[in-house]
Amino acid sequence: MQNEETFQFADERFADLQMLRYQVPGFLDLNLRQQVLVYYLSEAALWGRDILWDQNGRYNLRIRQLLETVYTDYSEERDTQEFKEFAIYLKRVWFSNGIHHHYGCMKFQPGFTSSFLRRAVLSVPASKLPLREKQSVEELCDELFPVIFNPEVCPKRVNQTEGEDLLLTSSCNYYQEGITQAEAEEFYASQKASGDAAHPIMYGMNSTLMCDGKGCLYEDVWHSGGKYGNAIDHIIACLELAIPYAENVRQKEVIEKLIDFYRTGDLKTFDAYTILWVGETKGEVDFTNGFTEVYGDPLGLKASWEGYVNFVDKKATHRAQLLSDNAQWFEDHSPVDPRFRKEVCRGVSAKVINAAILGGDLYPSSAIGINLPNSDWVRAEYGSKSVTIGNLTHAYNQAAKGNGFREEFVINKETLDLLNLYGDVCDDLHTDLHECLGHGSGKLLPGVDADALKAYGSCIEEARADLFGLYYIADEKLVELGLTPDKEAYKAQYYSYLMNGLLTQMVRIEPGHTIEEAHMRNRALIAFWTLEHYPQAVQLVNLDGKTYVRISDYSLLRKAFGVLLAEIQRIKSEGDYEAAKMLVETYGVHIDSALHKQVLARYKKLDLAPYKGFINPRYEVKYNSQGEITVVTLTYGESYDEQMLRYSRDYRTL
Ligand code: ZN
Repeated sequence: MQNEETFQFADERFADLQMLRYQVPGFLDLNLRQQVLVYYLSEAALWGRDILWDQNGRYNLRIRQLLETVYTDYSEERDTQEFKEFAIYLKRVWFSNGIHHHYGCMKFQPGFTSSFLRRAVLSVPASKLPLREKQSVEELCDELFPVIFNPEVCPKRVNQTEGEDLLLTSSCNYYQEGITQAEAEEFYASQKASGDAAHPIMYGMNSTLMCDGKGCLYEDVWHSGGKYGNAIDHIIACLELAIPYAENVRQKEVIEKLIDFYRTGDLKTFDAYTILWVGETKGEVDFTNGFTEVYGDPLGLKASWEGYVNFVDKKATHRAQLLSDNAQWFEDHSPVDPRFRKEVCRGVSAKVINAAILGGDLYPSSAIGINLPNSDWVRAEYGSKSVTIGNLTHAYNQAAKGNGFREEFVINKETLDLLNLYGDVCDDLHTDLHECLGHGSGKLLPGVDADALKAYGSCIEEARADLFGLYYIADEKLVELGLTPDKEAYKAQYYSYLMNGLLTQMVRIEPGHTIEEAHMRNRALIAFWTLEHYPQAVQLVNLDGKTYVRISDYSLLRKAFGVLLAEIQRIKSEGDYEAAKMLVETYGVHIDSALHKQVLARYKKLDLAPYKGFINPRYEVKYNSQGEITVVTLTYGESYDEQMLRYSRDYRTL
């Protein structure tokens, strides 16, 4: 792994996008067998790329080929406004895996003219263009240009507007053109009616709904030998190569069952696969590969293809384990009324993982936490896997360092230095304390309903876990356990926590709105309660028209968090709904509109990209004379356009 200091987490910035790079720490600590397993599973995660492009829109793959050919083969002057706009457009299309915004779903409007693109397309080798049989280059332009330039054509990938026909107005490619919402809904209602109600399969998940021309609907199933068969066969080939390297019998069965599903497209087999997958928790390497999330279908049935591979971060998992092992000590020393403590307390052993590759609908824009499977009855009967992807979170944090955010909102140089020195260690540790100890601590008094706090329950629960973490992050026990470097470190967490709760988390709220999300409410609750009750410890001060958080007594702050933790635990243990309501409504919901306006204006000036995505690392292998892999190397140097062009070239299947 490259040195943290020299590694560039932030890469290109264009339109509303910021490209980042992530490191894969711990890869070199895996043994060769595990590295080979990661390699083959990563290949399987890359081979599905074209499936997603086609799912996102029926013209996407051909438009990509046309744009890429211009990008690589255009031989005239590139240093023009039109060409620059063209390049930005292509980069956005790459980012979205299609011509619509990855988040907002609206079609991109090119910043260059159709006459520029026509000239450019006519100037490149016709053999590299996505021509249909007997189609001329002019005809190709006539066919695809309205899709690129005309705002009326394919305006939105997924339309969710109540009252409109969601299929006729969405241009995702899950239903044959012309099939109405009512027709599709009727088709799937009758499938469901005749199926197993207690253990329903994921109806419609892996097929395109088609019409036979006589008004009869049928499914074109995505499987080997069927639709997307070529891509799926490449995925299967990589999975087969991975099997001998599986870490245990169960993991081998998982991979075999997935191959079985890809071969048959049978959704009962898919359920059997997810059940096996949920139960495989012993292996250090894990993956998802397949038709997964349904956000891209306005009816929420069809699953977009995604793939990723991860493995356990041993160092971080050790940290979580250390806390879990000492759970009873933390419980016995917590500042809450002993009646509300657990006599026997077992910590939660959280698994921290690092992503090795991102593919399909997780690339380049990725979630940082994943919780699967999506089938409700499988979750209820077999559980689910929930993970936080440590190295992606880390990359976000590192990239945010140089962007001016802290410089704008932190009160002075001394505090800024404190945050730069201890911020990362403390952030991770606070999360661990929250997850491994906070949620698991305390108990309800006998007879108290777990849902007594109703709508305020989740905010109070998050506040409880956060406060447990805040209280203990300042404890000498953590220095003793080797989890914090010294007795000063916690101050970084105290400052950044209060700055976030009092000021900066407001940047995510629209002017005039209140705070709704439970985690955000909990942070505001803790911060504003402390501000009001402990003015000797923390204040909001105005310097040259800008508001800052000032902390004047860190040890008093710890006391404050202890007092609030005791009260929040009481509320939870006794099921005191009125007190929960009072705390949340008083401190967690409302925003001072003048302060909000000021914070938004300061944030806007920083001109930060609202959306971020990742460039993957590159894995390469060497073989011996028996065809076995002897070395897997990992490099980070590839640029965004190099990577996209390589993927289009090397993993093209459709
Ligand atoms: Zn939580």
